[in-house]
Amino acid sequence: MGVAATTRHCIFCEIVHGAGEASICYQDDRAIAFMDIQPVNAGHVLIVPREHFETLSDVPHALAMHLFDVALRLGPVVRKLSGSPDLNVVVNSGEAAGQDVFHHHVHLIPRRPDDGFDVPLPFSGSQMPDRTLLDAMAARIIGELHDPVKRTSREQPASLGA
Ligand code: 5GP
Ligand code: ZN
Repeated sequence: MGVAATTRHCIFCEIVHGAGEASICYQDDRAIAFMDIQPVNAGHVLIVPREHFETLSDVPHALAMHLFDVALRLGPVVRKLSGSPDLNVVVNSGEAAGQDVFHHHVHLIPRRPDDGFDVPLPFSGSQMPDRTLLDAMAARIIGELHDPVKRTSREQPASLGA
């Protein structure tokens, strides 16, 4: 089990271990992908690590990259078979972000113009902040990225423009 191993019942662990029913469309030694049980559109796939990690923040970097790599490999296939050129690649990480199943997963969602689904950005509930606020937040992020105490070996110094 992963660092965020849980004793709670996990439907995706059951699927990974062959104890839960699923329509699997891809598998390798670290990941499996299967059809979402309640798809936005036909072809909606979930890409799931075999090991249990609750949220994106818990997933080791290399594994997170691998899941995204699987998403990139499946993307053209899903687009072809669904007949839809458009896709959302979605990760809901944490309760406030709308995560319902606390075994990390990547959604690959083929989209149709009038399917009624939406990831409503830009957010209509937000004012556009003053440039100074945007600059200040960007500067704080750059500061954190360059902090030698917090930086881990895999992170590269930021070249974020500013
Ligand atoms: P979340 O809100 O956690 O990002 O998304 C969870 C997704 O898992 C939903 O789209 C939901 O339809 C799907 N899901 C929930 N339970 C099952 C299940 O037992 N089997 C499959 N294949 N998908 C599930
Ligand atoms: Zn799990």
